[in-house]
Amino acid sequence: MDKLLFGTAGIPISAKGFGTEEGIEEIRNLGLGAMELEFVRGVNITKQKAPEVKKAAEKNNIVLTCHAPYYINLNSLEKVKLKASIYRILKSARIADLCGAWSVTFHAAFYQKSTKEEAYKRVKQSIKEITQKLKNESNKIWLRPETTGKESQFGNLDEILRLSQEFDNLMPCVDFAHVHARSIGKYNTYNEFSEILEKIEKKLGKKGLENMHIHLTGIEYGEKGEKHHLNLKESDLKYKELIKALKDFKVKGVLISESPNIEQDSLMVKKIYDKI
Ligand SMILES: [Zn+2]
Repeated sequence: MDKLLFGTAGIPISAKGFGTEEGIEEIRNLGLGAMELEFVRGVNITKQKAPEVKKAAEKNNIVLTCHAPYYINLNSLEKVKLKASIYRILKSARIADLCGAWSVTFHAAFYQKSTKEEAYKRVKQSIKEITQKLKNESNKIWLRPETTGKESQFGNLDEILRLSQEFDNLMPCVDFAHVHARSIGKYNTYNEFSEILEKIEKKLGKKGLENMHIHLTGIEYGEKGEKHHLNLKESDLKYKELIKALKDFKVKGVLISESPNIEQDSLMVKKIYDKI
């Protein structure tokens, strides 16, 4: 990626219809550059349909990313659940690849009764299996475990960076709202955002900053972290400071707005970014 593209989680509200291709077209009309395929409640694009989505993305010059289903736990001790979790990531990666997507993000696991280290080892084992399969299929999509919003979920920044150091085709999806909510209000100043970006560069090198999949939304949180998403202006997230830090660190990749107002916040942060 040679710059930072702005996009939406799913089809923009202003799109003419509810179809993926109509969404992609609207992204271009809005002057945005990316759209995330939302497979969060299931992979809703078929193998047959995927090439049409790819064509629409190419025609409109839009980068696609993908969010795998929520029902994933790579730390499950139940074999059936673990297998289903691995399958959901694989299926998302396969369909997303057929759509020509660049990156697939997912919430990797819950700690449940495991220690953090036990959970890490199990997640790593499953990801090894997934990356091996995708490699055999010549599927080059980026796998992106996401920084999660609750202490009960696997996926603090250190865990995601550690995984990124271990696999060739895996990089972080950094959800700044989640990092903020998980820490119950920290990571909300220019210096704190810079700290995150410095850490990414230290662990992954310059390519860590030049290959970023970012999520951004306003967020409501409590003692246990994330509660629900808000529009940026209704939240306490200091998004202007974040955007400034992203620009100063010359971050490249894709920034996806997950706000309830979808494209409005994406357009708003793009405007701020372009003005700096
Ligand atoms: Zn997510």
